Amino acid sequence: MNESKAIKIIKQEMGWESKSSTLRAFEEAIKALEEVQQYRAISTTEECRAAMGKQTAKRPRIMGNAMICPSCPRCFKSASPTYCPSCGQMIDWGNEE
Ligand SMILES: [Zn+2]
Repeated sequence: MNESKAIKIIKQEMGWESKSSTLRAFEEAIKALEEVQQYRAISTTEECRAAMGKQTAKRPRIMGNAMICPSCPRCFKSASPTYCPSCGQMIDWGNEE
């Protein structure tokens, strides 16, 4: 059961309930559930955005003869990994067809 389903059931039950204190308790429960839904939606979007950002290949920064990860201070001297071993950023080494 997710929050939307719980809210739906509570609202159905509210139709049968006539005691005002119980109705108020139901209303509070719905409010709390709706807040949880909002927080969940926000965190999912942020996690998704962070993951998507690192899946887009970025050019490494060049400092002398060292290549540096565009997302963290990790330095690649000779190896050219597809993903940064420190932060998971995908690296564009500029050798694609
Ligand atoms: Zn990195």
